Amino acid sequence: MTKTGKIDIKSLLLNELQGDVRDLAEPSYRAGQITDWLYKKRVDSIGKMTDLPQSLRERFAEKFSFSKIDVVRVLGSRDTTRKFLFRLSDANLIESVLIPASAALYGEKSDRRTICISTQVGCAYGCKFCASGLEGFSRNLRANEIIDQIIAIERVSGEKIDNIVFMGMGEPLANFENVMRAIRIVNAPWGLGIGARHITLSTSGLAPQIKKLADEPLQIRLAVSLHGATDEVRNQIMPINRKYNIETLLSACDYYAERKKQRLTFEYILIAGVNDSDEQAHLLAQHARRLFAKVNLIPYNAVEDLEWSRPSRSRQEKFLSILRAHKIPATLRREKGHDIDAACGQLRLQTSRNERRQVTTS
Ligand code: SAH
Ligand code: SF4
Repeated sequence: MTKTGKIDIKSLLLNELQGDVRDLAEPSYRAGQITDWLYKKRVDSIGKMTDLPQSLRERFAEKFSFSKIDVVRVLGSRDTTRKFLFRLSDANLIESVLIPASAALYGEKSDRRTICISTQVGCAYGCKFCASGLEGFSRNLRANEIIDQIIAIERVSGEKIDNIVFMGMGEPLANFENVMRAIRIVNAPWGLGIGARHITLSTSGLAPQIKKLADEPLQIRLAVSLHGATDEVRNQIMPINRKYNIETLLSACDYYAERKKQRLTFEYILIAGVNDSDEQAHLLAQHARRLFAKVNLIPYNAVEDLEWSRPSRSRQEKFLSILRAHKIPATLRREKGHDIDAACGQLRLQTSRNERRQVTTS
């Protein structure tokens, strides 16, 4: 729903559109024409859907809104990671990141063009190392605002996106219904047509919602931000752990793993002196074995105003070698420039903060 009280047309599933066209005494194939205009031809208004009868266009335009998000800034260049700052219809700002095919994503070379998208304005979970949580939570994004990030980036960059990671600002499982709706549209052949295996959702560990996700038929990939192998360590950096401790989280992951065919991934940021000990590595290996999970190690990336730092290269390598000695599939991000790190969970870096200030005051 928008301020006008109208639902946005890009939040609707094909069967809902079919219901709406039938309510207007039109044949249901009209709904397919509408989704073609939205997701294949990419028009920017209902009025431009020229093969629909004029009366239908008018009635739809009265009933539904049609969102666009404004691109306020693009940082970065074609061969590197590009960061997009968007203004939503209520003036809130969000960011998404386009990661080129040549870049290594989570330690693995990818031949796909990936975008890292936001699901909320801000984040309520307040992880101590994360820029998105610093300014608190404003609101959930609606499904169309999630879809619009992808459509706008494809339009501006001229590139076809074929991999989506929900690792931008916000906690996707705290905005469950809108995120699921957006994923259905992204995945559907009538929508953006991106395979479920090329959609990854990252969560800080909302145990009940992980179970709920396990019961959904979609085969998307799940990444769990663990960042600590004991409650003692995790409590220090992730307030969510006081609500759902490691055992509660891991048993939700067990439930997920039993129902889904793919492996889940543990994300583990390495923070010097906090979670990078040998003991944590051995315990992390046990958790990964229990769940048949992969581990992505991510050296902590500095955030303005925060005190944490990344361990030395040799400590990072030692941590990795312990996991590997336990035969756990594990990767460590090693690339220079931290381009990719800027992509995910870090969308309020210094540059963008300054940008934000300018944008909000201009
Ligand atoms: N809220 C979800 C998804 C967004 S955060 C989650 O927490 O999983 C996406 C990822 O970026 C998470 O693994 C998060 O822990 C990581 N991240 C956040 N701040 C970071 C930092 N400063 N350096 C490296 N990774 C960071
Ligand atoms: Fe929110 Fe994820 Fe950042 Fe934690 S890491 S504050 S859950 S966006």
